[in-house]
Amino acid sequence: MIPNYTSALMTVETKVKEDHAKVCVKMHSSHFRTHSLPHTSHILSTTLPSVLESKCFNEKKQPFHEEVKATAVGHLLEHIILAYMCESKLADGHTEACFNGFTEWDWSKSMRGTYDVIINMSKEDISHLKYAMTKSILLTEKILCSN
Ligand SMILES: [Zn+2]
Repeated sequence: MIPNYTSALMTVETKVKEDHAKVCVKMHSSHFRTHSLPHTSHILSTTLPSVLESKCFNEKKQPFHEEVKATAVGHLLEHIILAYMCESKLADGHTEACFNGFTEWDWSKSMRGTYDVIINMSKEDISHLKYAMTKSILLTEKILCSN
């Protein structure tokens, strides 16, 4: 089980299913998108540079290092989680690690500032998810506090 997290900035609930994990994020911060967080790229480049190289399938077909300048905070968190999961798996001695996921939100149905981040993974990867969630929340909050 992944413990739920709540702070003044956000609430994060993680549910692990058979072939994916669903991370429900509720932003309490007023920053819903990274365009109001101009230090995002710099913080990522010093703390988790691999995330800037990650593949991203977005509408504008931009590389993630461009997309990250103006994207939903939920989508940023998704990429951070995936990068930390890879880091954890590689540190475990695997020669390759690749995780993928997507982020969805519909604020006509759920509260403004809520995101569902879906991480495709098997239950064998839960230790990597656990590692990634702690680190990802810390890094996202560092970015949210940087403005
Ligand atoms: Zn993406």
